[in-house]
Amino acid sequence: MTIEQIIEKVAEDNPKTDLGILKKAYNFAKKAHEGQIRKSEEPYIQHSLHTAFGLAQMKADLNTVVAGILHDVPEDTRYTLTDIENNFGKEIYNLVKGITKLGKIKYRGIERYRKNLRKMFLAMAQDIRIIMIKFCDRLHNLRTLENLSEEKQQRITKETLEIYVPVAELLGIWHLKWQMEDICFKYLYPEAFKKMEYKYEIEKKMERSQFIQKIKNGLGKELKEAEIEYRIEGRFKHLYSIHLKMQKKQREFDEIHDVFALRVVVNNVSDCYKTLGIIHSVWKPKLGRFKDYVAMPKPNGYRSLHTTVFGPEGKSVEFQIRTEGMNDEALYGIAAHWHYKGYEKNAKKQPKWVNEIMEIQRQIRSTKDFIKDIKFNVFQHRIFVFTPKGDVFELPEEATPIDFAYLIHTDIGNKSVGAKVNEQIASLDYELKDGDMVEIMIDKNRKGPNYTWINFVKTKRAREKIKQYARKSPLRGLTKFIPKFDAKGKAKAKAQAQAKKIKRK
Ligand code: MN
Repeated sequence: MTIEQIIEKVAEDNPKTDLGILKKAYNFAKKAHEGQIRKSEEPYIQHSLHTAFGLAQMKADLNTVVAGILHDVPEDTRYTLTDIENNFGKEIYNLVKGITKLGKIKYRGIERYRKNLRKMFLAMAQDIRIIMIKFCDRLHNLRTLENLSEEKQQRITKETLEIYVPVAELLGIWHLKWQMEDICFKYLYPEAFKKMEYKYEIEKKMERSQFIQKIKNGLGKELKEAEIEYRIEGRFKHLYSIHLKMQKKQREFDEIHDVFALRVVVNNVSDCYKTLGIIHSVWKPKLGRFKDYVAMPKPNGYRSLHTTVFGPEGKSVEFQIRTEGMNDEALYGIAAHWHYKGYEKNAKKQPKWVNEIMEIQRQIRSTKDFIKDIKFNVFQHRIFVFTPKGDVFELPEEATPIDFAYLIHTDIGNKSVGAKVNEQIASLDYELKDGDMVEIMIDKNRKGPNYTWINFVKTKRAREKIKQYARKSPLRGLTKFIPKFDAKGKAKAKAQAQAKKIKRK
C-alpha cells in the first residue's frame, strides 16, 4: 500500500480539494513509526496506510483519512497528541485523541466487555468518525491475523464478534460486518470454514452462475418492456451467515435453499415497486417473506424491498430490490452520508436510534443497566404496530400493549386498563406482532400504573415511567417491586434504607 493509492482514492470523491495534507500526514507518521516492524515483518506504516485506505474506500472525509494515517502515533511513538494538534489542527487532533482514548479494546470476560462496549458508545456519541477509524484499524488487524499466535487469534476474533460486529450491525455498516465475521469464522471454526468455502466456491459456483443466468433471462425481458433500467447482482451470501443458519436449523449446507440471492438495483422508488410486481407476476411469491423496508425502514435506516419466490425449478430465490442510494446506505450505513454535505450538517440527521443511544447514556449511570437497555432498545429486532388511525409506532420484538401505551403518552400508560389487538380484547402483557393494530383502553380516574407491569414490559421508556411513578409514591409498594430487579438484593437493601429515611422524616 502506498500513499499515492490513498491520494488517488480520496481524489475520486474530492476532485477539487488540495490533498497535500495526506502526504504531510504520511511523512509525519512514517518518521514517527520509523524502525517499528509488525509481526508480518512489514514496516508499521503499512498498517496506518491500510487503515486510511479502508476509510477512503468508505468515502470518509479528508480529515478522517488523515486521522487514519496518524491513529497509532500517540500510543506507540515518541510523538504526542500535542504534536498532532500543532501540525494538523484541532479537528484531526480530536479524532486521534478519540481513538487513543478508546485505547486497546480487549475481550476479557463479561465485565470488561460491558465496559468496552460502553467505551465504544461514548466515543460514538462524541464523533461517529472515531468508530469508523477504529473499525478500519480492526479490519486490517484481522486481515493480518495469520502472523499472530493462536491464542491471540482466538482472543481477537472473539472480541471482534462480541464487540465490533454488533456495533457495525447497529450502525448498518454491513460490508464491514460481513468482512469481519467471515474472517473470524475462518479462525474460530477452521474446519467448518474450509468445508463451506470449498462447497460454496468450487462445487456450487457453476451451478450458481447458471441458475442466476436463468433468473436474469426470466426477468430481463419484462423489465425491459416496463422500461425499467436495472442492474442485477448475484448476491453472495456470507459464509458465516450460512453457518449460523445451518446451526440454527440443524441442517446441512445442501439443505439451505436460499443460498442463492439476487439484488436488483433500479433508478427510483417507483421502479422498486414496479420491479417487485414483475417478479411476483413471473414467479409465485412465498407467503410471509415479503418485507417493505422502503415504506418502513429498519431502525438503523436500512431500506429495501425483500421477497422470496419459487423461482426456476421450484427453487426459492431471495430478492432484494433497491435504488442505488439505498444500496450505498445498505453497504456503508451511517457512513454513506458523511461525504455528501460534510459531516457537521449530517450529524443532526443521524438515524433516530443514534439519538436513542445518547439518550440512554445520559439517563443511565451503571454499565449493567446501560447494556441491558442497549440490548432491549436497540440491538433487538423491531416490530411496527399501528393505531386505529393508522399511525405507525416502532417497538422492540415481544413488546406489550403497555409498552405501546407509554410510547403514545405517559398518561395513557399510567391509566391503561385494557387493550384491543386487531379489534380483539387482549391482555396487557400480550406479545405484540409486526403489523398489529393496537387500541388502549384507559380509566381516567386511575391514579397510576400497576407495579407488576414492570415484570413484563420490554421498553426502557415504560420501565422508567413505572419506576418514576413508584419513586413519587414510595410508600405504595416501592419495597414490593424493586427487589425483583436485582437478585443480589442490592436494590432491596437500598429500597429499605430509603423507606427508613422516609419514616424518619
Ligand atoms: Mn492500529
